[in-house]
Amino acid sequence: MTSPTGNAALIADLSGRVAIVTGGSRGQGEAEVRLLARAGAAVLIADILDEEGHALARALASEGHEARFFHLDVARPESWSAALDAAGRWRGRLDILVNNAGIINRKSTHDTTLEAWNRLIAINLTGTFLGMQAAAPLMRDGGGGSIVNIASNSAFSGHYDPAYTASKWGVRGLTRTAAMEYVTWGIRVNSVCPGLIVTGLNANAPHLKPMIGLTPMARSGTPDEVAQLVLFLASDASSFITGEDFTIDGGFTAGAAYRRVAVESGLLPSAEQA
Ligand code: NAP
Repeated sequence: MTSPTGNAALIADLSGRVAIVTGGSRGQGEAEVRLLARAGAAVLIADILDEEGHALARALASEGHEARFFHLDVARPESWSAALDAAGRWRGRLDILVNNAGIINRKSTHDTTLEAWNRLIAINLTGTFLGMQAAAPLMRDGGGGSIVNIASNSAFSGHYDPAYTASKWGVRGLTRTAAMEYVTWGIRVNSVCPGLIVTGLNANAPHLKPMIGLTPMARSGTPDEVAQLVLFLASDASSFITGEDFTIDGGFTAGAAYRRVAVESGLLPSAEQA
């Protein structure tokens, strides 16, 4: 039985590497920052949440890790230029970029305003594009690197939030396209597609119970579990992998709807019956 532990053995060594994690002040980004730092990377925590980001950097420093906070709004090109300048001044190199910052709208197509659509696309999709464009030259100058874009398992189907789903399908497409382009610079680009992970994004959302009910593993995932996949893709352990998208969703994308049909038809036992 697998368990969602946050203290699993490290699968990679990132000593000497420098990483930027956007949206790194809380949620999955915070878990990614903590794990990359634990693996030896110097991590720039890039977020609009200043207080939490500074506190995280201080906490990591007190544990002997290297981390700094930098205020970054991923939707603004000038904010990215400043962040890359800061990374260059700090260690003179960049090896890892995790484009993790994201928001959700949870409105139907009919009820999504143009303002909400534009804001979400600017952060989730344009922010990922701007991040890759800004970071790639510094990575190339240091001999290459790894970009991990956080998409979602809603990038494989329809969903109840059109702006979110469109942005995450876009992140998958952008990932594959950038992977083909940046391969000559020694940069790998992959995407991570989580299912339900309980964080500030959805802590009180009404869909938690039905989502868990439909997830074959019958639970939500943890930020630490997503961070382990990010660490794998960020490190040399995944050195022959580029342009791929990895679902991490307890089996949801693999066939949750058919599993439900099988359970309701008596062909398979439910989680409670098993
Ligand atoms: P979260 O807890 O809300 O954390 C997201 C972080 O990004 C927050 O610190 C947020 O700040 C920050 N952020 C928002 N707008 C930003 C901007 N313009 N520039 C820089 N940072 C910004 O969310 P999470 O659940 O960890 O989600 C992380 C990523 O995973 C997102 O891309 C999300 O779409 C994806 N994902 C999450 C789930 C899930 O179930 N949680 C599932 C699939 C995919 P504020 O708090 O001020 O907004």
